[in-house]
Amino acid sequence: MNILLLGSGGREHALAWKLASSALTDRLICAPGNAGMAREAECMALDLTDHAAVIALCKTHKIDFVVVGPEGPLVAGVVDDLEAAGFRTFGPMKSAAQLEGSKGFTKDLCRANNIPTAAYERFTSAEPAKAYARKQGMPIVIKADGLAAGKGVIIPQDLTEAEAAIDMMFAGGLGAAGAEVVIEEFLVGEEASFFALCDGETALPFASAQDHKRVGDGDTGPNTGGMGAYSPAPVMTPEMTARTMSEIIVPTMRAMKAMGAPFKGVLFAGLMITKDGPKLIEYNVRFGDPETQVLMLRLMSDLLPALIASRDGQLKSFDLRWYPDAALTVVMAANGYPGDYKRGSVIEGLDAAGEIEGVEIFHAGTKADGGRITSNGGRVLDVTARGKTVSEAQARAYQAIDRIKWPEGFCRRDIGWQAVKREKA
Ligand code: AMP
Repeated sequence: MNILLLGSGGREHALAWKLASSALTDRLICAPGNAGMAREAECMALDLTDHAAVIALCKTHKIDFVVVGPEGPLVAGVVDDLEAAGFRTFGPMKSAAQLEGSKGFTKDLCRANNIPTAAYERFTSAEPAKAYARKQGMPIVIKADGLAAGKGVIIPQDLTEAEAAIDMMFAGGLGAAGAEVVIEEFLVGEEASFFALCDGETALPFASAQDHKRVGDGDTGPNTGGMGAYSPAPVMTPEMTARTMSEIIVPTMRAMKAMGAPFKGVLFAGLMITKDGPKLIEYNVRFGDPETQVLMLRLMSDLLPALIASRDGQLKSFDLRWYPDAALTVVMAANGYPGDYKRGSVIEGLDAAGEIEGVEIFHAGTKADGGRITSNGGRVLDVTARGKTVSEAQARAYQAIDRIKWPEGFCRRDIGWQAVKREKA
């Protein structure tokens, strides 16, 4: 089969690495791709917002199956357009991608179907939102309804900050994403990410992970797209997984089908494991970044047939096999990230780092510059390792990092600390 993978980050490099090893893959094209993906596949320049160009590329290269990495094209309806043009595509249609594209949509779906989530209200103007925030009091969570590239959630310290966040969103600080605002109850517990592969009817549990969103060691400093992750998540015991499936994932699938928007693709539930059990924080409608990097290292089965079964509605009789090992990824970012940073610094030592047992280095934002690899983004590398335990995977990842020569970059030194602490205990 000729496969086209859309996207250019660490998530897509991990998917490309796995898809390239599939028995079904004859040719893998990544668009636009990055310097790391160029080792697994052919990379081609492509504007993902130009759906006609995406379709033209599929025609030129006789693509048999398309895999969409990022959420932007899904929410913009790239799957609808590709399927209408006759190209089989993994991922949800626009109507089902609302689960990520609109927080209010997902909250209403939870309310209507008794899916456990934080109590909330939706607002379209500032004054009623502020009145609600004052009535609820602290702590509280303020969210822009639409896609805001990870900047749409604010947990204010006090009411003044809450009101400022509401004003910022309604003043267009987050563009169209903030035209509507959701205010919700602050949940207490341990966070986990849970992934299920869905075919519109059936949901197949995929795997769990935990990530580190804050930029600094000890989970301090501003939020980022994610500075590292590990899998499996120790809080996702078999009991918690079963509850997540029956209380959250399955009712969501049923409700989406009933409203004529069956969900196909990977459903990524951000969960808070509270004292009352799992509660949904949010849905994403694609693989996580950097969670995918650890999931791909743990997946023993061929990924491609599973993605095709999701598209074709054939997951019912499907099974996936996993290595019993843990996996962990550490993100290396450009100095200054998540604030301003420079591109174009030279990264050395990647080959030596990749020789450490169990290690795979996925590229998130790199460029080939002559024979050299240079940085080309905020998050630049995902140094990923498998091990019998999270502690072993962590040790291997940091051993690899110590071989990478990149003074213009940094990473957290404590990724996986909660799991390592549990393992030591
Ligand atoms: P999101 O972009 O929705 O994943 O939110 C970013 C982060 O904000 C989450 O990973 C949580 O740490 C936090 N968060 C979001 N909603 C809540 C909530 N209702 N209660 C507590 N923390 C939350």
